Amino acid sequence: MKFKGLKIQHQILIGFLAFTVLIVVVLWFFQVGLLNTFYKAIKHSEIKQMAITASQFTDEEELLVFLEDINKNNNIDIKITEADGQNIASVTSFSNITFRGLSASLCAGIYAQTLANGGEYLEWVTLDNIGGGYEELVYLYATPGDDGKLYILNSRVTPVDATVDTLQVQLWCVTAIMIVVSTALALFLARKISRPIMDINEAAKQFATADYSIKFIPQGARETHELAYTLNYAAAELSQVENLRRELIANVSHDLRTPLTMITGFAEVMKDIPDENTAENLQIIIDESDRLRKLVNDLLDVSRLESGSVEFKQERVNITRLVDDILMRFEKLVDFEFEFYRGNDINVVGDELRLTQVIYNLISNAVNYSLDDKTIIVRQSVVDGDFVLIEVEDRGEGIEQDKLKYIWDRYYKVDKNHQRAIVGSGVGLSIVKKIIDSHGGSYGVKSKFGVGSTFWFKLKIDQKLLEDTNI
Ligand code: ADP
Repeated sequence: MKFKGLKIQHQILIGFLAFTVLIVVVLWFFQVGLLNTFYKAIKHSEIKQMAITASQFTDEEELLVFLEDINKNNNIDIKITEADGQNIASVTSFSNITFRGLSASLCAGIYAQTLANGGEYLEWVTLDNIGGGYEELVYLYATPGDDGKLYILNSRVTPVDATVDTLQVQLWCVTAIMIVVSTALALFLARKISRPIMDINEAAKQFATADYSIKFIPQGARETHELAYTLNYAAAELSQVENLRRELIANVSHDLRTPLTMITGFAEVMKDIPDENTAENLQIIIDESDRLRKLVNDLLDVSRLESGSVEFKQERVNITRLVDDILMRFEKLVDFEFEFYRGNDINVVGDELRLTQVIYNLISNAVNYSLDDKTIIVRQSVVDGDFVLIEVEDRGEGIEQDKLKYIWDRYYKVDKNHQRAIVGSGVGLSIVKKIIDSHGGSYGVKSKFGVGSTFWFKLKIDQKLLEDTNI
């Protein structure tokens, strides 16, 4: 099957390269494209600030000191005239052609024009003829009013183009290095990230063909480690389910076949031999049909419980009386001695029919797995304040410790060669587990192989009802 989308490593590679290209473009744009604009804007604001500061001096001496200062430190020549063009001050350090040609009348004209222009005027002049490669910034600033003045500032700056040229060379180097480094890094990372995913993918393909022996190797990032562990766990679970499924088919077909053989056998005998047409034989057919029905019901129950399609009632259940009733029925059916140690009647909230099933299954197991000692003890006690504990103890064959954790799984049977005539389908305890879980209770077993088992479950007591009965 062909899947859409790029491979992880290609995606990482493309992502990295796109990121590098973006960074380089941004760098070029700011360093080369916008540098001139930035530079001029900064120079403009600098020189404007100087003019404004100069215009704020009232003391001529101080003004002169300031002008000399900016001339020396900022490389700015400055000339100040009255509105009519009369010179007030002029500080210049380079042979300033601009200033030299300025007569008083010209200055007066410039003053008027600058005022008309909003009080300032800026011009960048390229001076190719002087020393080759200077730029001059001419800034005019005019203050209005009777004592209005004209400030002519002139600054020589190295043209930014030269700097841009230097930067460009540098940027080419940076671009080349970045592309090489990011490609190498992208290739390395892409391999590092995609390798474990590719391995897991390969293993998963095999897993999909129901090969549960596959091992997913945890490697790479934490997520891929986790993924490998999860898949290993799923593989183990599925293989267990698969084994159980195989066992179930074997067991169920065996369980179904035995009563069916009996039914058809007896029916045929009764048909062929008129003397055999007895009530006793009919009873056998009825009993075997009952067993079949129970088996089918159990299997249906467990699948319904597992699919979650069963709705549990929320009713008051007198659990003590329930145990009593069930024990009474068993006493009539089997030749066992049942002892029930009970205190006061206890109520719980739940589904009576389902809870009957729980108690029935536990007692029926105790009967089925008992050996010579046919004593079964049932205990009811209050534990942890508001929980009722029901224990069913038998003196039967017990369960080996290593098998204990599996008995609650559906279709699990400890001994496959057990006497099939009395033993069930392997779903009884999984039904118990589902029902108790759905009632918010807990369950468990203590067992000693060869000595016996005690199965128990715990449910919350319906305190409200206890209080009611106390009144
Ligand atoms: P089954 O229908 O086979 O009894 P269950 O789910 O009720 O199925 O029980 C699962 C397995 O647990 C049984 O096959 C049996 O091996 C073991 N088991 C259950 N109850 C007892 C018990 N009281 N004593 C010994 N083994 C038990």
